Amino acid sequence: MTGRSAGYDVLVLGGGVAGCVLAARLSEDPDRTVCVVEAGPDFGRERSGWPKGVLNARALPREEVWERHAPAHRIRARLLGGSSCINGCWNTWGSEADHAEWARLGGPRWTAPAMEPYRLAAVERMGLRRAPEHEFSWWSRSALAAAAEIGFREVDMGTPGGPGYGTPLLNAFDGVRHNAAFAYLEAARSRPNLTVLADAAVDRLDVRDGRVRGVSIEVDGRRETLHADGYLLACGSFGSPAVLMRSGIGPAAHLREVGVRPEVDLPGVGSNLVDQPGVFVPLAPTDELNAALAEKEATGDLYVSRMLVRAASGLCPEGSWDLHLLPVAGPPLFGGLPRGQYEAGISAFVMKPASRGTVRLVSADHTAAPEIDPGFLSDEGGRDLAVLRSGLELVERMAATAALARLAGPARGPRARDLSDRELRARLGTYWHPVGTCAMGAPDDPRAVVDGEGRVRGVSNLRVVDASILPTVPAANTQLPVLAAAEMLADLVREAA
Ligand SMILES: Cc1cc2nc3c(=O)[nH]c(=O)nc-3n(C[C@H](O)[C@H](O)[C@H](O)COP(=O)(O)OP(=O)(O)OC[C@H]3O[C@@H](n4cnc5c(N)ncnc54)[C@H](O)[C@@H]3O)c2cc1C
Repeated sequence: MTGRSAGYDVLVLGGGVAGCVLAARLSEDPDRTVCVVEAGPDFGRERSGWPKGVLNARALPREEVWERHAPAHRIRARLLGGSSCINGCWNTWGSEADHAEWARLGGPRWTAPAMEPYRLAAVERMGLRRAPEHEFSWWSRSALAAAAEIGFREVDMGTPGGPGYGTPLLNAFDGVRHNAAFAYLEAARSRPNLTVLADAAVDRLDVRDGRVRGVSIEVDGRRETLHADGYLLACGSFGSPAVLMRSGIGPAAHLREVGVRPEVDLPGVGSNLVDQPGVFVPLAPTDELNAALAEKEATGDLYVSRMLVRAASGLCPEGSWDLHLLPVAGPPLFGGLPRGQYEAGISAFVMKPASRGTVRLVSADHTAAPEIDPGFLSDEGGRDLAVLRSGLELVERMAATAALARLAGPARGPRARDLSDRELRARLGTYWHPVGTCAMGAPDDPRAVVDGEGRVRGVSNLRVVDASILPTVPAANTQLPVLAAAEMLADLVREAA
């Protein structure tokens, strides 16, 4: 408690994926006092103290989240470890083109070669590995064969490469989800210079004359103000813009509407939300597939998928990919089926959407959830819809291969290609990779919220370090890119001190 009244060198606000990296890396120097503030609980060092659902890597839990019954695109974790505690444990990497986009907006540190050491550091620290053979179901093995049958080559999903099929890197061991709190904080927890403050919600930063003077938090129902020399905001793509806006940093007109006095007019805060939408095409599993899946489930080895395809639509630049095809078979993601029956199908996800959404405050009260409009398929030219339709054609081709057709036939109802635009929109799901709401950009870019080092424009001692600063979404699952970005920015903070 000493630092709590005296202040810290660094306050990390948000104990999710990026927050755990920052807390661990910055407290490596024993002379730097670091406090990480997390709204949700900390279940501690011992695995036995963690909720079973959060540990179970075979399913996506809906516990320890901000809103239990919200639409799928709003799901985000509220506990130390952040969304790594509730996610699919899949780790892939984007294309060279993704990094070129980031480098153009954030500088040369963001190129794929410059980020490589940080990607490797994250892979090592998270213990990422390929799924062992026994975790592949008959379905997953057949899906690998199906991708080859329609002409894809095998690629390494952990490196830029190009289109192709392969297996992701996983942060799960024997069915246990190995989250960022385990990977990054296990050893760091015992350091006397690191404080983990859980169940402590960040309300707002006190910003005056271009500097953060303190942060107002609510802990155990009480108000407290914490102080530090430097503040690192890591509340994620929905949380970070909300904290900034409550602090008077954001689009001035919107802030006035909700009764917040603008301190720094940054129109980009909460704008530019980009997430990857997708459509699941259900198939009808044969009795043989159901029986094989039941057998796998009985031995504890049933995972709904262990492979994916990176595919390019006709609109995708040469050498890159703008689609993920994800064949799954197992218990449904949400809801249940009678014993011995499973869901099978293939999803197509739009990986590089042109559409943009928003995060906006509904009030200045920190307990009020922000309004989140993902803006799916809203781009004027209809490019995202065209990419999605191209993905669904590939899904149909994959489902019709000799390798998969013997495991599952067409489900009842219209074929995906016959669905109207309206019907497709009604079936949209998300890949849960929101980014871009505090986007980095060049000094002359009026939409930029932070620079390539995460520094917030107009506020001298504040950085944002999490998924929200990525200005475009990579053609990948975002956990590994966020881990690598946080590793890189932690290095910069250390150098700057
Ligand atoms: C259901 C789901 C499945 C996913 N599956 C995958 C996958 O398989 N592979 C993959 O690569 N990515 C996946 N992702 C995405 C991945 O988890 C995120 O990209 C990553 O967690 C982003 O890290 P972050 O640090 O930006 O945010 P988070 O990890 O979400 O951390 C933000 C933290 O800040 C805290 N916070 C927010 N507001 C406040 C506040 N006011 N005060 C204090 N603390 C606050 C939150 O409680 C949370 O702990 C998935 C995400 C979800 C939700």
